[in-house]
Amino acid sequence: MTTPLDTQQALAYYRGQYDEIGSRLLRLQQELIQARRDASRNRAIALIVQSLYESSQATPGASLGDILNSLLAESLRVECVAILRWRPAADHFVLCHGLGLDADFSLPALPACASSQNVQEVPNAARAALRAVGLRNWLWVTVPQDSNHALLLANRQPHPLDPHTDEFTEDDVLIAMTALKIYLGLRTQQRTLRALQAAEANYRTLFDSAHDALLVFDTGGQLLDANQQTVDLLGCPPAELRQQSLNSWLIDFKPVVWKWRWRRALAGRAQRIECPLRTASGRRLWTEIQLKRISAGTRQLLLAVVRDISERRQHEEALHYHAFHDPLTGLPNRAAILERLAQALHHCQQQPNEHFALLFLDLDRFKVINDSLGHNVGDRLLVAIGRRLRACLRQKDTIARIGGDEFVILLARMAQIDKARACAERLLYALARPFNLDDHEIYINASVGIVIADDRYQEPELLLRDADIAMYQAKSGSVHNRCAAFDPSMHERIVQLMHLEHDLRRALPRQEFLLHYQPIVELVSGRLKGFEALLRWRHPTRGMVAPGDFIPIAEETLLILPIGRYVLESACQQVRHWMRHHAQPPVVNVNLSGRQFTATNLAEEISSLAQRQACDPALLNLEITESAILGDITAAQETLQRLHEQGFPLSMDDFGTGYSALSYLHQFPFDTLKIDRSFVQAMDHDASRAQIVAAIIGLAHTLGKTVVAEGVETAEQLATLRTLGCDFGQGYYFSRPVDAAAADALLRDPPWQRIPD
Ligand code: C2E
Ligand code: MG
Ligand code: MG
Repeated sequence: MTTPLDTQQALAYYRGQYDEIGSRLLRLQQELIQARRDASRNRAIALIVQSLYESSQATPGASLGDILNSLLAESLRVECVAILRWRPAADHFVLCHGLGLDADFSLPALPACASSQNVQEVPNAARAALRAVGLRNWLWVTVPQDSNHALLLANRQPHPLDPHTDEFTEDDVLIAMTALKIYLGLRTQQRTLRALQAAEANYRTLFDSAHDALLVFDTGGQLLDANQQTVDLLGCPPAELRQQSLNSWLIDFKPVVWKWRWRRALAGRAQRIECPLRTASGRRLWTEIQLKRISAGTRQLLLAVVRDISERRQHEEALHYHAFHDPLTGLPNRAAILERLAQALHHCQQQPNEHFALLFLDLDRFKVINDSLGHNVGDRLLVAIGRRLRACLRQKDTIARIGGDEFVILLARMAQIDKARACAERLLYALARPFNLDDHEIYINASVGIVIADDRYQEPELLLRDADIAMYQAKSGSVHNRCAAFDPSMHERIVQLMHLEHDLRRALPRQEFLLHYQPIVELVSGRLKGFEALLRWRHPTRGMVAPGDFIPIAEETLLILPIGRYVLESACQQVRHWMRHHAQPPVVNVNLSGRQFTATNLAEEISSLAQRQACDPALLNLEITESAILGDITAAQETLQRLHEQGFPLSMDDFGTGYSALSYLHQFPFDTLKIDRSFVQAMDHDASRAQIVAAIIGLAHTLGKTVVAEGVETAEQLATLRTLGCDFGQGYYFSRPVDAAAADALLRDPPWQRIPD
C-alpha cells in the first residue's frame, strides 16, 4: 500500500520527469528548426556558388555581377540587389551591378555589416541615402579582406501580412557574405583568364606576323610550333616541317657543330649562326639563325629565329668583290694581292722551304697609247693584256692589277730565280704579239721586276716594294732585257736617291748650285765662239755632284722648274757681264729640260728674263734634246718657233742618241746640231761612225744648220772633224767645264790657240 507521502513523491518525481522531457523536446524542436535553417542556408549558398561557377565557366564573358544579383534576388526573395565598389575620388560606394536600383545609385561609407534592424549604428548620411531611394528593409555586407566591395540586399515594400517576415537574419548575412566572397574570387579568376587569353592572342598575332621565321622546339629538338613565315621561307607545310630537324635544311653545316650550338643555346647562351640553307623547292638562301632558350612556365623550350639574309649577303659579296677587284679587268686589286701575299708569307714562315715569287710588271710607254688612241682603247688594251697574262699562268698563281698599267703576279711554289725569270720572259713574249683593237694594231712592251719571297720577308708591302724597285731597274736597263731580279743594292740605291731628293729640295735656298762653262770652239779658226753652261751642285758632304746624278730626280720631282730658272738667270747675268767686258762677247748655251716645256710658258719666261737682264737674245743659245720635245711636239714646236722669232739661237743637243727623226730637223727651227760625243769618240776606232758623223754634217749643212761636235778629246778627233767640215767642237781637248772666272781667262787667252796645228 502506498502512503500519501509516496504518492506525493511519485507525483513530484513524474512532474519533474515531464518537465525535463518537455524541455528536452523543446530543445530538440529548436535544434531541428536550427538544423533546417542551416540546411536551407547551406543549400542557398551551394546553389549560388554552383550557379555562379557554372555561369562563369559556360560563358567566360558573362557578367558575374548580374548573375549573382539575380540569384540572390530569387533565393532570398528581395527586390533590390547591388554590388558596389568604393570610389575614393567620390568618397562613395558606387554601383557596379544593380538590380532594382538606378545606375547612379551610390552610398557613403557604412560599417562592415549593417542592416535596417540595427540602423542606429549606421551614419546618418548613409541612412538618408537609403531612405531617399525608398529602401525600407536592407542588409549591407562587405568582405573583411576587401572592404572596397559591398553587397546590398533590400526591399521597398513591406510584407503584406507580416511586415517583419522580410527582416534579414544572420543566415542571410552569412549567405550575402559568402556570395560576395565567391563573386569576387570568380571575378578575379575570370579577369586572369581573360588576360591570359588576350596574351595568348597577342602572342599568336606577334608570332604569325613576325618578319622572321620563328620555330619553337622542345629540348629534344621536336618542333612544337612554327609561324607562317617559316612555311613561306622553307616552302614546306607545317606537318612536314615536324618530320625534319632544323639543321637538315642547312647546307655545309657540320651536324656536330650544330649539336654543339644547340647545347650551348639550351645552356642559356644564345647562338647566332650564318649559313646557307636549301628550301623545299631547291632554292639556296643565306640565313641567319638565332637559337635562344625560352621558358614557358616551368618548361624550357628553344626558339629559333631564322632570317633570310640573302640580299644582305649579296650586297656584302658585291662590296667585297669591289673592295678586292679591279673594276676594269676583273682581276684582283692591290688590297687583294696584299692579302694574298700576307697569307703566302704566313705559309712561307710555317713551311720555310715553300718560297714563292712575285713579279711586278709595268707596261712601257702606256701613256702614249692612252694619249694617242684615247682612254677607251687604253682600257680595252688593259683588259686584253690582263687576259693574255692570266692565260700564261698556272691555276695556283695569282695575277692582280694594282695601278694604271701595273700588274703583279704571285707565282706559287717558286723558289728559283731562274724559273721565275723564265716565267717573266714567257709573259713578256706573250705581250710581244700585237693586240688588235678596232683598226689598231698595238704593240706593247713591259718591264718586269722579280723577287723571290723567302722567310726574310715579313710584310707584303716590302715584297711589293722590292719587286717594284727591280721593275724600275729593268725599265732603266737595256731594251732587250726587260726583266730584273731584285737585289738589296737596288734598294740601297733607291734610299740614296731619296736622300738626294731631300737634299736637292734644300739646295736652291742654300745656294749650292753654280754654273760651269765649257768652251765651244770654231774648228777652222780656233776662235772661241761661246760656252755651254753646265750646272753643278756643290753638295755639303758629297762634294761636286754631276748633273747626270741629280737632273733626272729634279725632273721627276719638278724641282727642275726652279732650278732651270736659276740656270737661265745665272746664264743671262754671265752674258751681260761678257757683253760689258768684251767687244765680241761669247754665246752662252743653256740646256733646257723637257719638263720646262710642258710645265711653264717657257718662251715668255725666257724672253722677259733676257729683257730684264738686258741680255742680247742672240747670245743665249738654247739647247734641247730630241726627247725633251717629244712629250708634246706641237707645244714644243710653238715655243721654239716663238723663241727663234725673238732671236734666240736653238741647238738640238745629243743628236744621234734619240730617234734622230730627220723630220724634226725640218719641222723645228734649229740653227745648230750638236753631235753626241759617243759618235765623236767612236770615230777613232769605228770608220762607220766617222761616216755617220760625215752624213750628219752633210745633212745639217744642206738644211742650212751648223754643227757642233761634242766630246772632242783628242787632236785626231779634231783633225777628222775638221776634214769632215764640222763647224764647231766642244770637249776636253779644248777645256773641261770651268767656273766663270776660269772661263773669263779662257776667253781672254784660249790655250788651244797656242797649240801648233
Ligand atoms: P750635255 O748638254 O750634252 O753636256 C755635255 C756634257 O758632256 C757635260 O757633262 C760635259 O761635261 C760633258 N763633256 C764635255 N766634253 C766632254 C769630253 O770631252 N769628254 C767627256 N767624256 N765628256 C765631255 P755634264 O756637265 O756632266 O752634263 C751632263 C748633262 O747634264 C748635259 O749633257 C745636260 O744634258 C745635262 N745638264 C747639264 N747642265 C744642265 C742644266 O743646266 N739644265 C739641264 N736641263 N740639263 C743640264
Ligand atoms: Mg747640252
Ligand atoms: Mg750634249
